[in-house]
Amino acid sequence: MSSEAPIALLSVYDKTGLLPFAKGLKELGFRLLGSGGTAKMIREAGMEIEDVSSITKAPEMLGGRVKTLHPAVHGGILSRDIESDLADLATNKISPITLVVCNLYPFVLQTQKPDCTLAGAIEEIDIGGVTLLRAAAKNHARVSIISSPSDYDVILSEWKQSSAISDATKRGLALKAFESTKAYDEAIADYFRKMYASVDSEKDMIAGAGVGYQRLPLRYGANPHQKPAQAFVEQGEMPIKILSGSPGYINLLDALNSWALVKELAAAFNPPLPAAASFKHVSPAGAAVGIALDEREAQVFGVADIKDSLTPLASAYARARGADRMSSFGDFIALSHTVDAITARIINREVSDGVIAPGYEPEALDILSKKKGGKYCVLQMDANYVPPDIETRQVYGISLQQRRNDCKIDESLFQNIVTSNKDLTKQAITDLTVATLALKYTQSNSVCYALNGAVIGLGAGQQSRIHCTRLAGDKADNWWLRHHPRVLALPFKKGTKRADKANAIDLFVTGQVFEADPSERAQWESLFDEVPAPLSKEEREQHMQQLTGVACSSDAFFPFPDNVHRARKSGVQYLAAPGGSIMDAECIKTADNYGIVFAHTNLRLAKM
Ligand code: 5GP
Repeated sequence: MSSEAPIALLSVYDKTGLLPFAKGLKELGFRLLGSGGTAKMIREAGMEIEDVSSITKAPEMLGGRVKTLHPAVHGGILSRDIESDLADLATNKISPITLVVCNLYPFVLQTQKPDCTLAGAIEEIDIGGVTLLRAAAKNHARVSIISSPSDYDVILSEWKQSSAISDATKRGLALKAFESTKAYDEAIADYFRKMYASVDSEKDMIAGAGVGYQRLPLRYGANPHQKPAQAFVEQGEMPIKILSGSPGYINLLDALNSWALVKELAAAFNPPLPAAASFKHVSPAGAAVGIALDEREAQVFGVADIKDSLTPLASAYARARGADRMSSFGDFIALSHTVDAITARIINREVSDGVIAPGYEPEALDILSKKKGGKYCVLQMDANYVPPDIETRQVYGISLQQRRNDCKIDESLFQNIVTSNKDLTKQAITDLTVATLALKYTQSNSVCYALNGAVIGLGAGQQSRIHCTRLAGDKADNWWLRHHPRVLALPFKKGTKRADKANAIDLFVTGQVFEADPSERAQWESLFDEVPAPLSKEEREQHMQQLTGVACSSDAFFPFPDNVHRARKSGVQYLAAPGGSIMDAECIKTADNYGIVFAHTNLRLAKM
């Protein structure tokens, strides 16, 4: 160890608290070294300080671009108390530095100025300061790196007490310094991402060609006043290409979540089945696999006119869209396979915001890119893209991190059957898989009913589980009532729009129109050639009795058996939920009384 006075190197842009700190250091016996402006300020206050150039024997140059970048500085910071390092210092006549005090050029402030030019921003990229911070933080076993004026007092008082800085303080200071360089580099990357890595026009794509694109500018965030907004990846290439339209922030949330769902859904079966999802506000309104439709289903899902030409992918979308036609109004669609023309034609006649798929046949792309006068959003997803294991998001300025929910959902999840009836059919396994995978991508709490490879009722985002079970059950009931022969024969006037039909059918099957205000009822009645009579209680009951074999899954355990009772009312024969409730035994008993097959999954699927 050197017996000379300890050296403190000061190089700060923000000079808050600098003078009292320098004074304190002097009083504690430090030898002070400073870069140009920092040294000048201290000297002008009447304190003795040497210029960094006195040890580098090189002047500051390039208008300040090179100030402290020199082996005399960085050798002094990075040297350890080991023989070989001390020998190197002696040979090169370098003194070890004990404290480094540094904060950086205000890059962010500069780029926020309305008249900031690219050249102006570039000049505010600190080079030597970042090197000081990083070098001193790396060598924090010996060196203290003080990157914030708020730490000046702690340093003075610790040194006063023990003529040293404790290891714990040095560790905390190092972490702070690493975080400050990380934030600084992030701000620089963000600035250049916006300047150089856009894909919003052909010109930009050409400009960025060859090195990949990392950023999608978005029109706005969740609401129109939330500007600016963007999507980006920090590593690798952006896996989404915009083929048409320009996605908004919610579109992209829907696109990414729905893509993840259909990718997993298709792969959950052997052989894989094409899958489709219809998303609204970051939860599925419907999701399905490509099981062929019978005549009645084709009619209920609004594809009777093209039933014979439906491909498996088109069937999947017809089913997904048919789960809850009202909720799907203005949906974002995900398709697991290359989009064919017939699927594009179904999409084309619905009100929808956009679609994401791994590819498009030329005719399909032609149809979709003309939808909404060319504003329909068509996204192509790299099917091989695998997201990082760890995902981070910020809430109210705090970063939250977790492992991505990459659990696999397939038939193996439903093996632990806890009821006496253990007869889980192949179709039931398919339906439970669809329901459970839909829940994985649904805002919690959530409960989902499925039949024939499709969601038929989904209750999302409720605080109480029974409310989810009821909401999903009511949707499943309405879905089934839409299959009633009288609904299929409703005498709509010629030319009634598809969305108006969907709304009118909902008012009819829920019976709400018959209790509605006369003006609403008159409007409803005006859609028909002949005003339909309500479904009677008997008609409803008789029809509902035919809804059987339904699968129902829950994203967390059933806290009370009321959920089982409610599920049964909508024809549920197969249940899946994690165990763990103190009422498990009661729930199982209730399921046994109904002859239901209940699988405990041991997998909670909360999504927040
Ligand atoms: P001063 O006001 O002392 O002249 O400059 C202090 C600022 O210069 C600090 O923000 C520090 O991070 C930065 N700095 C220190 N060394 C260098 C260098 O070698 N190059 C550049 N560009 N900035 C430096």
